[in-house]
Amino acid sequence: MPLLAVPLFLDPKLEPPLTSLLASSRFLHDLVDGLGSPLNVVVPDRIAENVARFRSVFRRHHLEGEISFAHKANRSSALVRRLAATGAAMDVASLGELQHALACGFTPGRIGATGPKEPEFLWLAACAGVTVNVEGHAELQALAALVRRHGLPRMRVLLRLSDFSGTAVKVLSRRSRFGFPTSELAGLLDACERHHEALEVIGVSYHLDTTSLDEKALALEGCVRAMDECRARGMRPRVIDIGGGFGVSYLADGAQWERYTSQLTLAAMGRREALAWRNHSYGLSSEGGTLRGSLDLYPSHRPVAGADYLDELLRSPAPTLGRPLATLLLENLYDLCVEPGRALLDQCGLTLARVLETRLETDGTHSIRLAMNADDCALEEHGILMDPIVLHRGERWESTEGSAESFGVHLHGNLCLESDLITRRLVFLPRLPDPGDLLAFPNTAGYCMDFNAHHAQRRPLARKVAAYLGADGWQWRLDDQYWPIHSEEDAHEV
Ligand SMILES: *Cc1c(COP(=O)(O)O)cnc(C)c1O
Repeated sequence: MPLLAVPLFLDPKLEPPLTSLLASSRFLHDLVDGLGSPLNVVVPDRIAENVARFRSVFRRHHLEGEISFAHKANRSSALVRRLAATGAAMDVASLGELQHALACGFTPGRIGATGPKEPEFLWLAACAGVTVNVEGHAELQALAALVRRHGLPRMRVLLRLSDFSGTAVKVLSRRSRFGFPTSELAGLLDACERHHEALEVIGVSYHLDTTSLDEKALALEGCVRAMDECRARGMRPRVIDIGGGFGVSYLADGAQWERYTSQLTLAAMGRREALAWRNHSYGLSSEGGTLRGSLDLYPSHRPVAGADYLDELLRSPAPTLGRPLATLLLENLYDLCVEPGRALLDQCGLTLARVLETRLETDGTHSIRLAMNADDCALEEHGILMDPIVLHRGERWESTEGSAESFGVHLHGNLCLESDLITRRLVFLPRLPDPGDLLAFPNTAGYCMDFNAHHAQRRPLARKVAAYLGADGWQWRLDDQYWPIHSEEDAHEV
C-alpha cells in the first residue's frame, strides 16, 4: 500500500480552555508576531481546575492530605502563582525552585523538598522550615548537623523508600537510584532515633516513574508496613507521600493509537514503509523476521490517567493485606500526599511555532521547516506522539477531524543539525501549512515546554506568556508579569 494513501492521524485530546484558545487564531498569530517564534502559552486557570479534580478524589475516599505540584515539570511563574491561590502545595527539587515557590506565595508549611540536594538547598530548606523528603543516609546526617550547629527548630522529614520487592508478592519492582531500600529500614530508623532532637519523622514516601498500578500498590502497602515499624518504635508518623506519575492521556482516540503502534511494529519488521525519519522505529527492531525490543514511547493514549489514576490506585486491593488501599489509609488515619507534575499540567498550555518553508520531496512527502528546534518542544525527548494543529494566517481554526485529505510531512527544526526534527515521525496533516502559518503543539506544559530548552546557536529561549479569559475574551501577560488577580472573576471584584 502506498505510504501516503492511508493517513495515520494522532489527534490530540483538547479540552477547554485550550479549545477556546485555539479558536482565537488571530490572538495567537498576534502574540507570535510580537514575541517571536517559538512561543509558549500557559493557561494558569486550568491548573486550579486540575487541583480540584485531585481534591475530589481525596474527598470521595474521605482522605486528608496535600496535593503537591512537582515544580520541575514547568518553570512558569504564572502557574506557580496561580497554584498558590489554591489549596495545593509545592514539591521543589532545587534551590532555585524553593526560592521561586517562596516568592510566589507558598508558605514553608506548604512546601516539600525532594531530589538530590546541594548544601545550599538543604540550608534554605532547614532555615525556612520546609518539609524535607530525605533521600539517603548522608542527607539525614547533613540535615541533623545543620539543625544542631545553627540551633534551628526541629525539622519535619519524610523518609523516601524504594525497592519494595522484598515481600511475598511477585511484582517486579525496579530499583531506584533514590531513597532507602525497604530492606534497610531498621538501620534507617535507628539513625532517625539518634537524631530525634533535630528531626521529626512525619512519614514515609516513594516516587516511582512507572505506569504500573501493581508496582504502585505494592509500594503503598510497603509504606503502610514501614509506618507500622515507625509506630512500634514510639514515633508518631502520619503522612504517606506516594509521589507523582499519575500521567496524562494526550490523544483523543485510543483506536488511532492502537492502529498507529501496530503499523509501527509492521514497519520495524520491514512489512510496510517506514513511518519515521531514516526508518527510526522507537526501540523496535527485527531479527530474522522476529520482532525485538520494546516501544520506547510514552503511552500517548491512556485509558486512565491523572486524578482517575489516583482513584483507581486507591480502590485497588493491597497486594498482601487484601483490603482497598484507601481503606488501609483511612483505618490508620494517615494523610495521603501526592506529587503530580505532568498530571497537574494537563491541558495547561501549548507551544506555537511559525512555518518558514514547505517543500515537496521526491517521495511525495513534504518537509516543513519551523522557527523552533527539537528542544524547544521536547515531545520526541519524552516519546510523546501527537499531531500539531495548523493555524492558517487570517483564517479561523476549525476542527478537521474526519478530513478526507492528508499530507505526510516531516517537521524540521531551525538548527544546523540533521537530527533536529521536532518529531522523527512522519506526521499526517489534513491541510498543508504555508509559510507564515503557525503550528500549535497542544498540551506541552508538562516537561515539553522548557525542561530541555537551551541557547544553542545563540538562539533566544522561547518567551512564555500566561493567557486568561478576561471580560473582553482572551488576554495575556508575560509569564513573569502575571499574578492571579487578572482573571475574570477577580476583575469584576475590583
Ligand atoms: C518528577 C517527580 C515527580 C513528578 O512526576 P510526574 O510524573 O510528573 O507526575 C514527583 N515526585 C518526585 C520525587 C519527582 O522526582
